[in-house]
Amino acid sequence: MVAQTGPMLVVIDGPAGAGKTTVARRVAAALGVPLLDTGAIYRTLALVAQRRAVAWDDEPGLVALCTGFPIAFGALDASAQAQAVRFAEEDVSAAIRTPEISQGASRVSAVPGVRAALLGIQRSLALQGCVAEGRDMGTVVFPDAPFKFFLTAALRTRALRRHTELTQPGVVPPSLEAVERDVAERDARDTSREAAPLRKADDATEVDTSGLGLDEVVGVILGHIAAGPRTAAERQI
Ligand code: C5P
Repeated sequence: MVAQTGPMLVVIDGPAGAGKTTVARRVAAALGVPLLDTGAIYRTLALVAQRRAVAWDDEPGLVALCTGFPIAFGALDASAQAQAVRFAEEDVSAAIRTPEISQGASRVSAVPGVRAALLGIQRSLALQGCVAEGRDMGTVVFPDAPFKFFLTAALRTRALRRHTELTQPGVVPPSLEAVERDVAERDARDTSREAAPLRKADDATEVDTSGLGLDEVVGVILGHIAAGPRTAAERQI
């Protein structure tokens, strides 16, 4: 173990429904640092593109939208259950969470120019330290982060979690099978794309959340952080 200096930076990657967002919120609240939900950035781009009639595979059009991208994150609420996302002062928190925009986010995020254009924004949002969650935090955006985690869970478990999230009062949720298809399709696209594919960083700690409750996953992560960053030698293990 080596001493932690500078701003606290923790990265959490993994496939859709592995529990990253919920876990990351709780870890950020426990550490007293902001949460950087990078999926929300791709989701917001997909929403803005749809509204402006820019296709989700139109690289020049999407890259133009990324210029000076006016996204802002609110603070975590007291129970660490929600974080507002604003685009040009509009609260887009709910609009970016639909199944259609999930697919759109997965499509725009596979465009190499988009990933390059959003790199600087992600890094500048993390300057004061944060818990950053996404798909390529440990491999591309913050390769030097001292604390890296990769959350996994069986496909069915992940689909069930997403289904529960989408089940809101007064809204007819999609079927579990449709949610499982959506999660599997996004996984396939996220892992097979050429630009920053979803993959565990060699020095990330993998946590299989399938049989674990939220408190247990958060406890495992906070335990690793309390033990301090791993040295280069320990990372080889
Ligand atoms: O994590 P979330 O489900 O909100 O992410 C939405 C989509 O954005 C993912 O399916 C993935 O394709 C993309 N994404 C990404 N890189 C990140 C975060 C999200 O490609 N760092």
